[in-house]
Amino acid sequence: MEPTPPRTTGGFATRAVHGATVPPVGQHPVSVPIHPSATWGTATSAEVGDLLTDEVAGYVYGRYDNPTSTALHAVIGSLHEAPAAWSAASGTAAIHAVLDVLRGEGRVLATAMLYGGTWALLRRLERDAGWKVDHAPLLTAADLRAALTDEHTVVHVETIANPSTAIADIPAIAAVCQERGVELVVDNTFASPVLCRPVTLGATAVVESATKFLGGHGDVVAGVVAGSDELVGRVREHVYELGGSLGPFEAWLVVRGIQTLALRVRQASANATAVAAELAAAPRGVVAVHHPSLDAHPQHAMVPTMLSGLPGALLAVDLGSRPAAEAFADACRVFVRAASLGGTHSLVLHPASTSHRQLRDDELRLAGLGPGTVRLSVGVEETEDLVADVRHALAAADDHAA
Ligand SMILES: *Cc1c(COP(=O)(O)O)cnc(C)c1O
Repeated sequence: MEPTPPRTTGGFATRAVHGATVPPVGQHPVSVPIHPSATWGTATSAEVGDLLTDEVAGYVYGRYDNPTSTALHAVIGSLHEAPAAWSAASGTAAIHAVLDVLRGEGRVLATAMLYGGTWALLRRLERDAGWKVDHAPLLTAADLRAALTDEHTVVHVETIANPSTAIADIPAIAAVCQERGVELVVDNTFASPVLCRPVTLGATAVVESATKFLGGHGDVVAGVVAGSDELVGRVREHVYELGGSLGPFEAWLVVRGIQTLALRVRQASANATAVAAELAAAPRGVVAVHHPSLDAHPQHAMVPTMLSGLPGALLAVDLGSRPAAEAFADACRVFVRAASLGGTHSLVLHPASTSHRQLRDDELRLAGLGPGTVRLSVGVEETEDLVADVRHALAAADDHAA
């Protein structure tokens, strides 16, 4: 296909609109360019129709696709060792698309240790769109067998639960799903592809909030999905028809962030391990510390087998009471009191009053947290500064308790 010939002649206003001709570049730029064009010229009118109906490959309209997003899809597919990948305007939009495509007319079975925003999404879809959704603890094959019925068409689990850091046995869960002919979606946001690649473990699809580790700098909201060509084709259609496509600037920020993903996740995991050790060694005030690096973590043995040997950057600490948890969070000087996770900045959050505020008390308990739970997303600052910060915050929580 010949590109539309650039027009550099005509009157002033015509040249102002058409005069910025793009030179043909026969080289590969080292960095991915941002393509903000919302629409693409063709040589003939018929070609526009062919592009819109996918009869020829190419770009036609920004809501469908753009070259910067294509670059993001390529790197996500590569990191997840999946045939194809797609993106959406948020992790939530990506979860909605992949679950809607896979559920057909059946019921959705989702883990009870679910990210708060996904609870809200599923509750709305039940209320407004007639979805049928069930929740159960889904960490093991036995958990899944106990909850799965013939009406379920899709199972949704999270690799590492928020905030308990409980690890789901993805290979075992995937084996049950395959045996029962049920699709498996894994929200791998807390792990990132550095720790876990669920499609290689038998999941139908992996979904991630790229707002977190993939973007990694707290400056973009985005979501990605990876899986088979057939599934990703259906997700693509769902995303552009419902209008939740990712913009090229956001796609570019995620592509840029991913270049340092492995470095950031390794350093953040090491920092989180040091912080978890400091909290676990506290003489008083700490009821429990949840981090996969600790021997006491129920799935500690899965770190080398399922998480590539890295315990991850998220941890939770139970300080026994809401006032102690609030005093701890309020005393932090390096950890920033903020929502989100997976970025360069260390963040502290009190889930019961923030990320999990949508949950009723029984749902809170199912999600594995209490009023005194504080979640830490450990960043890439100096280890010593982070350890000193939690030591100081613990003292403040202790003063409060005393
Ligand atoms: C943040 C998050 C989401 C939602 O992603 P958004 O980009 O905020 O829509 C989903 N799942 C998990 C585990 C998350 O941490």
